[in-house]
Amino acid sequence: MKEYIPSQIEKKWQKVWEEKKVFETPQYSEKPKFYDLVMFPYPSGTLHVGHVKNYVIGDIVARYKRMKGYNVLHPFGYDAFGLPAENAAIKNKIHPEVWTFKNIETIRNQIKKIGISYDWKREIATCTEDYYKWTQWLFVKMYEKGLAYKKKAAVNWCPSCQTVLANEQVVDGKCERCGTEVTLKHLEQWYFKITDYAERLLNDLEKLEGWPENVKTMQKNWIGKSTGAEIDFKVDGLDMSIRVFTTRPDTIWGVTFMAIAPESPLVETLVTEDRKKELEEFLKKVSLEDRFKRTSLEAEKEGFFLGRYAINPVTGEKIPIYVANYILYEYGTGAIMAVPAHDQRDFDFAKKYNIPIRLVIDNPESPIDVEKMEKSYEDEGIMVNSGPFNGISSKEAIEKIIDYLEEKNIGKRSVQYKLRDWLISRQRYWGAPIPVVYCEKCGTVAVPEEQLPVKLPKDVEFLPTGQSPLSLDKQFLNTTCPKCGGPARREADTMDTFVDSSWYYLRYVNPNLEDKPFESKDVNYWLPVDQYIGGVEHAVLHLLYSRFITKVLHDMGYVHFDEPFTNLFTQGMIYKDGWKMSKSKGNVVSPDDMIEKYGADTLRTYILFMAPPEKDAEWSDAGIEGVHRFLKRLWNNIYSVLEKIKNVSAEKIELKNKLEKDLRRKLHQSIKKITEDIEGGFKFNTAIAGLMELNNSFSDYLNKTEEKDLNLPLLRELVEKLALILSPFAPHMAEEIWHDLGNDTLIVNEEWPKYDEKALEVDEVTVIIQINGKVRGKINVDVNADEETVKKIAFEEPKVSSYIEGKEIVKVIYVKNKLLNIVVK
Ligand SMILES: [Zn+2]
Ligand SMILES: [Zn+2]
Repeated sequence: MKEYIPSQIEKKWQKVWEEKKVFETPQYSEKPKFYDLVMFPYPSGTLHVGHVKNYVIGDIVARYKRMKGYNVLHPFGYDAFGLPAENAAIKNKIHPEVWTFKNIETIRNQIKKIGISYDWKREIATCTEDYYKWTQWLFVKMYEKGLAYKKKAAVNWCPSCQTVLANEQVVDGKCERCGTEVTLKHLEQWYFKITDYAERLLNDLEKLEGWPENVKTMQKNWIGKSTGAEIDFKVDGLDMSIRVFTTRPDTIWGVTFMAIAPESPLVETLVTEDRKKELEEFLKKVSLEDRFKRTSLEAEKEGFFLGRYAINPVTGEKIPIYVANYILYEYGTGAIMAVPAHDQRDFDFAKKYNIPIRLVIDNPESPIDVEKMEKSYEDEGIMVNSGPFNGISSKEAIEKIIDYLEEKNIGKRSVQYKLRDWLISRQRYWGAPIPVVYCEKCGTVAVPEEQLPVKLPKDVEFLPTGQSPLSLDKQFLNTTCPKCGGPARREADTMDTFVDSSWYYLRYVNPNLEDKPFESKDVNYWLPVDQYIGGVEHAVLHLLYSRFITKVLHDMGYVHFDEPFTNLFTQGMIYKDGWKMSKSKGNVVSPDDMIEKYGADTLRTYILFMAPPEKDAEWSDAGIEGVHRFLKRLWNNIYSVLEKIKNVSAEKIELKNKLEKDLRRKLHQSIKKITEDIEGGFKFNTAIAGLMELNNSFSDYLNKTEEKDLNLPLLRELVEKLALILSPFAPHMAEEIWHDLGNDTLIVNEEWPKYDEKALEVDEVTVIIQINGKVRGKINVDVNADEETVKKIAFEEPKVSSYIEGKEIVKVIYVKNKLLNIVVK
């Protein structure tokens, strides 16, 4: 019998698939289209099995959908610009480009060995000129529409990466990439105006029924819409007012002070001469505090009175203006109206600095004594101390008070978002140069399309210094103005790598197009992506940016759709010894090692069998060993009969006994189950468990049947269909079996099998016997048996008859094919 030696069959079939170009996708086809996309990797090292999980999931989908008759687009590429590659290159003392392409080659070989069915003709890398030319084109289009602009602002600065970060790249005050505490810097930077799309990005989340709820919630919270009012507070003695945004205009009668963020330029304007010196000391102290911690509820509130008062516009009272450490400049207007009775942070602050606390909303259940308040009252209630609004509910008061403010010209209805514009400039080398020049005569000029790409020079000192490396390259920097031809200077910053990845899914459709980023007709056919697969860590970065860019391109008329990804699947991680795999922890499992030991089919099947794919899972050496044994047993069962069934047809199958009936039923049950598991939410682990069960039935049949009694047509059907449903998971093995069955087609091009409804029918059922409500036994009966027959068999059952003997049968209730209840006295 032929032995299972993965190394002998896997390379062979990979070569055949490549030679026959079976995974090359025709641009158009009669078949319905299916765009199956995995998030592309940073080529900053080699892949471990945790990375591979994503690609294996994507491959199951691609292979399954092909068999279901779809024209499947399943491409692969590399997010090849950016810090990971640049930092690794610096560490290894080679040029980022050399490093990147070396890694790309390694990753490509790793992926090919796993047998992932990519259309390699469409491979892209975002760091190549023919790609980043179009990233620059995107920038120019954004600039022309007023969606790219430059401004000086306080920005997040990572002292370790030596570059600015977008808000989305700061997690709990730390750099998303390296974990270093982020500091603030005032710099002039380029932004994309994502805030213009805040409302649509929020509302259209509803369209995304195929997205996980947690990702949608994260985006919703990140966009952070709140409705309320903008209110102007006049400053006493100065000809100016301070604008605040509040979601609680119902508390305005309770405003007893104002608080301003330390970073706000208002601080300098408002402080009185005699307090300037002390202010400086205070600001210095705050600047040393972590600005994410200092705004937390628990943090110690610190403030400084600016010597100045504002006027509460509804009470006319003078209220002190403080600079306070718990106010962030980036949110709202950087100033707040403080209502100590109804906001805990304001309450803590007022207690500390002896500021009056005025109750304006009372608790209807238990009236509040303001003298005895120990914390703020933030719930709804009844308006008190609020002029004309006393006595109504605070909920009702919100709208009425906004009307009142609008009437009196004090304030107006307003909506605010937490979302800030996307900061896209980076002071690093390995990225697409921002295609802008500065001319003394013409000012800022975008590089016209015909002059793109602005090439990234290769021999540049790229070690991080905090300055853009390109600014040290005179040859790059000095240029001529595209408008007037006069001398001009190039922008030296490069683009955030998230700009590269915000549109890459479009490029796969026309990866080699030279005069356009993509063909609208083609992307309108292929997009939106039908299934997108990747990590949840991209919820508010890549996934939000891609939605934004798609909407921009839609509005510019380049694409018909306005959401890029119809269905999103976020896979869980693979842990080893309780930790995320990392070189520093020394717990990395290499797919290459596993393939060498067990073969790619075992690796693929094990990765999917470990746990539901959306869940995190712990790598187990015993686990992969177990899956390998399963595939071997399956192989052995098949090859023990393969020679006998090679020239047998499965057209006519006669089932001679229960064993044969059971086996065929199990086969068709398995086809049904595995199909439903794949379709119904990626339940690959239970699908594989189904294959294992089917193989157990196969073994059972072989063990209980003499060789001469084997039902060959049945076995032919079994092995053929088994190979088909196995093929997405263990494609090499399935291809080998298919070939050895005498087929001259490739299994990857075959149709997914349908189950036979008839074969599922059972002919025997188990009926439970109860006597006076207690279970006393069970019997197997023909599925079509009538009540009389069932009763007769039941009464003959010794266990049952012993309970009935000598007793009077009062009643018998029969629930067909389920239950026989006998009542005796
Ligand atoms: Zn960093
Ligand atoms: Zn000019």
